[in-house]
Amino acid sequence: MEIEIKGIHKSFQGTPALIPTDLTLRQGQFTTLLGPSGCGKTTLLRMIAGLEQPDGGEIYSAGKCIYSAGNKTDVPAHKRHFGMVFQDFALWPHMTVFENVAFGLKAAKQNAGLREKVTEALAMVRLRGMEDRYPHQLSGGQQQRVAFARAVAIRPALVLFDEPLSALDAVLREEMRVEMMSLVKDMGLTALYVTHDQVEAMSMSDEIVVMRKGEVLQQGTPETIYGAPRHPFVASFIGKSNWLEPNCSMVRPEQVRWSRSSADDLSYVATVRHVSYVGERYEIRLQVDGLDQWTAYSVSRIAVGERITLYIPPKVICRMQDR
Ligand code: ADP
Ligand code: MG
Repeated sequence: MEIEIKGIHKSFQGTPALIPTDLTLRQGQFTTLLGPSGCGKTTLLRMIAGLEQPDGGEIYSAGKCIYSAGNKTDVPAHKRHFGMVFQDFALWPHMTVFENVAFGLKAAKQNAGLREKVTEALAMVRLRGMEDRYPHQLSGGQQQRVAFARAVAIRPALVLFDEPLSALDAVLREEMRVEMMSLVKDMGLTALYVTHDQVEAMSMSDEIVVMRKGEVLQQGTPETIYGAPRHPFVASFIGKSNWLEPNCSMVRPEQVRWSRSSADDLSYVATVRHVSYVGERYEIRLQVDGLDQWTAYSVSRIAVGERITLYIPPKVICRMQDR
């Protein structure tokens, strides 16, 4: 059960929100659309969901065409058998927790064994006993768990998340990140997750799709996106990057070797500009002679103003292939 997107595109008032895009969501895989605000993530997600009409292209779910501009196929959202979780939870305020989850099942025409299915979904998100509460009687985290239970109770072919954690505070967000990802994995669901938060994307995903200005720049595992970015935007947007040649080659901070002894031919000289203690190590901000500011790490404190020598083994240099 794979979701396949071919050449999907969309403009608003003549301005492209998404240029023709191909994307495959493999069965059981957690894929994240990552990019800054306005890059077209929500537009792409809504077109897959059937909430926004594409200008062209095709979408297949488990081999079945659910959208094709050419064939005039457009399966309505409620018949795509997808679950959705939004930033604002989108719970029905006048319905109880039980009724909210039951609503999703009824809309999907899964009335058989309704009570058991609702109970099972609420147990999964640790909300047993809260069936009769109304959304306003729940915390933000609990409301998002109800929204999640409603989305997955139907055992959807695909579950779509649009920045579901951004309304929550930082501690809860991290907790919910782990919880949602584990539930998706335990249930064997295929997920498409939208976020502008690179840490969220890195920690949750099997596959990350980096977008900018309506375009996919790179798709790959978190390790590939971080360790072998193809595009300078990808290198800069995910993690910290130290540029050897602007837009051409860079090195990640943890790959920078340095010492207080003097330089040889293959090294760079830098001045320590700023030191911050980040728990397990010190993060040091450097002004590299003839280059830009860099970041490196130190196990012990180092003084601002110290001159150090950097060693960059050639094999740790990432060269941009797309510019
Ligand atoms: P993201 O979710 O990555 O922040 P969106 O998909 O919401 O980005 O938006 C992509 C672009 O399309 C933005 O420039 C946005 O202003 C525009 N856009 C989105 N929806 C509409 C709409 N209904 N009408 C006009 N422009 C829109
Ligand atoms: Mg959005």
